[in-house]
Amino acid sequence: AIGLALSLAACSGGTRGGTTADDSAGSSKGALVGVAMPTKTSERWIKDGDAVKASLEKLGYKVDLEYADDKIPQQVQQISNMLTKGAKVLIIASIDGTALSDQLDEAGKAGVKVIAYDRLINGNKNVDYYTTFDNNEVGVQQATSLLTGLGVLDKDGKETGATGPFNVELFGGSPDDNNATFFFNGAMDTLQPYIDKGVLVVKSGQVGFTQVATLRWDPATAQKRMQNLIASTYSDGSKVDAVLSPYDGLSIGIISALTSSGYATDALPIVTGQDAEAASVKSMIAGQQYSTIYKDTRQLGDEAVKMADDLLNGRTPEVNDTTSYDNKVKVVPTFLFAPQVVTKDNYKELLVDTGYYTEADLK
Ligand code: BGC
Repeated sequence: AIGLALSLAACSGGTRGGTTADDSAGSSKGALVGVAMPTKTSERWIKDGDAVKASLEKLGYKVDLEYADDKIPQQVQQISNMLTKGAKVLIIASIDGTALSDQLDEAGKAGVKVIAYDRLINGNKNVDYYTTFDNNEVGVQQATSLLTGLGVLDKDGKETGATGPFNVELFGGSPDDNNATFFFNGAMDTLQPYIDKGVLVVKSGQVGFTQVATLRWDPATAQKRMQNLIASTYSDGSKVDAVLSPYDGLSIGIISALTSSGYATDALPIVTGQDAEAASVKSMIAGQQYSTIYKDTRQLGDEAVKMADDLLNGRTPEVNDTTSYDNKVKVVPTFLFAPQVVTKDNYKELLVDTGYYTEADLK
């Protein structure tokens, strides 16, 4: 199903984003759409929120866009307020995928449709649609780029015969974000055979998701854990060769821990990431962070808006995955997009030529 999903997402690229004012039937014009985003501390969510709001307004909808400062009660309150104000559709990127059940029950009773945005909302039947990037594939790509960076795989993904052993440490995302385990499992499926062969050594022994998870994706937490690992596991003078990091904010924290513990900026371990945030792209250009994963928030935003517009006008949104995302109550129909690995070799093509950034953004 995923293969099909990706080819669909790939071929639909340029056309699906083309929602225009004509798509919107008169009856739904002026309806309120609530857009709940988790936090402004990460640039990607700002881009997401801006893109969704602008496209909805272009179609004539009113928009209540809220950011919750990564605080669950704040997000709960914001969604309650959206319902009170009469929102007809909610687009939600949740902080904790299980904390919104009362609000979703209320939405269900009022006939308000719910679109889970990027992160699946678990444990409630009133999640009508989901749109995201293939989260398992994100993890596979992070792990694959780590292996490429170490020289275990070549640029075509073929094994080079390098036997290491390379010291690797693992970081996971927030345990309350459904995506975090998808990223970690995708990565571990890819790394495990090399751990089993002894090519990779997780010297700290911390290999379980709960051991390596980072609550709320907090960069300072990751920085601290990396510092502790260096001071304990690596106090014998051995070096870390690679760090699996699931998100650019954590990667920046991890790199600070490394440099402040004496790693030279031109001799850092291979560090992965996600979201192609400007700070991380700059870090890659400077030869520090090795890779990130690009998920075009414009594509995702357009898709969520298209779903909302369909729902508000009695049309059934198109999906390309009906098997991968079970929220423990139902399998949520999903429109999946394909993530892409970025390094300093292809950032121009992927991020600048596509208009995601200008060269000046990355200076
Ligand atoms: C998103 C990632 C992001 C992370 C931290 C995840 O749910 O899918 O793109 O890096 O949250 O914000």
